[in-house]
Amino acid sequence: MVPNAIVFVLSAKEGSYAFASRFGRHGWRFFYEQAPLQKRDKLRAPLRLSILHALNFVLCLSITKFKRMKLDKFKLHRFFEEKGITHLHHANTVATALTFIEQKGLLSRGAVDKLQLYQTPQSSDRKDKVFNIWNDVFLDTHDLHSHFGRDNRYGPVLFKFSIDFLLKTKSEIWVTKDNPIRWTKGMRNSDKYFSSVSRMKREWDNYKPERRMITVRKNSRAILFKYLEEITVDEPRLLLDEIDLFRVARRQLRRGIKANDLDINVKARKCPSYCYCEDNYYEKSVRDLRRLFYR
Ligand SMILES: [Zn+2]
Repeated sequence: MVPNAIVFVLSAKEGSYAFASRFGRHGWRFFYEQAPLQKRDKLRAPLRLSILHALNFVLCLSITKFKRMKLDKFKLHRFFEEKGITHLHHANTVATALTFIEQKGLLSRGAVDKLQLYQTPQSSDRKDKVFNIWNDVFLDTHDLHSHFGRDNRYGPVLFKFSIDFLLKTKSEIWVTKDNPIRWTKGMRNSDKYFSSVSRMKREWDNYKPERRMITVRKNSRAILFKYLEEITVDEPRLLLDEIDLFRVARRQLRRGIKANDLDINVKARKCPSYCYCEDNYYEKSVRDLRRLFYR
C-alpha cells in the first residue's frame, strides 16, 4: 500500500506550514504543522518540508508493513458459503495429532512448545518464529490430498472442521496469499495476507488453494474440536516391521480418542485412481514413514 494523497500546505505569508499523507481507504493519516516561522526560517521551510515528508513516508510504510490483517469473521463465513466451502482442514503427523487429541483441540506450534508437549519437528519452525506465525493455527480451505491427488506434506492425518467456528471464535482470523515458506523478509503484511473480505472476493482466484491458508492468530489453548466432524487417515498399503502403517496409525488415534473420552470418527482415506500418494509413500525412507505414522 502506498500513499494515494500527499498534501502540502505552505504559507509563506502566514509564516506557517503543514502537510498530511493519507493511506487509501484504511485511513493511515499523519499531519504535521509548524507554528509561525521566524523571518529567517522562511527560506528553510521547503527543505524542512521535504525532510518531514520523507520521515512521514517511512513511518507510514513501516506501519502498513505490520498492519493487522484481521478479517470480519461473519463476512468470511458468508463468503465461504458462497464459494461452497463448508469445511476447513488441518493435516499433521500421527504424533502431533495424538497431542491434539490429548489436549482436546488444535494448538499452534508455539502453544505446544510452551506447554512442553510433543510435536513432530517441521523444517519451517525457525521461519515461523521469524515471521511471527509460531503461535498461529493453520487451516486449509481444501482437502489438499484429494484436490491434488497426492499425500499432504504435513502428514497423513486430516482433521475436518465445520466453518461455523468462524461465527463463535474470539481469535483474529487472517488469510494468507501464499504459504509462509515462500515469504521473504522485505514483504509487507498486505503482500502476505488479504486485507479485507471484499478484497479477498475480488482476488480469490488469483491465488492457488494451497497458498490461501486460514490462520487463527495468537493461539495459546486447545481449540476447534467442538467443530471437528471427522479424522481421515491415509492408507499407503505399506508394511513396516510387518505391520500395516494405516492400521498402526488408526490404532494409536483410536486409543487416544478413547482414553480422552472423545467421540471422533476415524476413517480411512479413499483415493481416486489418479492419486499417486501410494507411490510417494513407497519412495519415502523408513525414518520418514516412522516420523509420519508413529509417535
Ligand atoms: Zn491418495
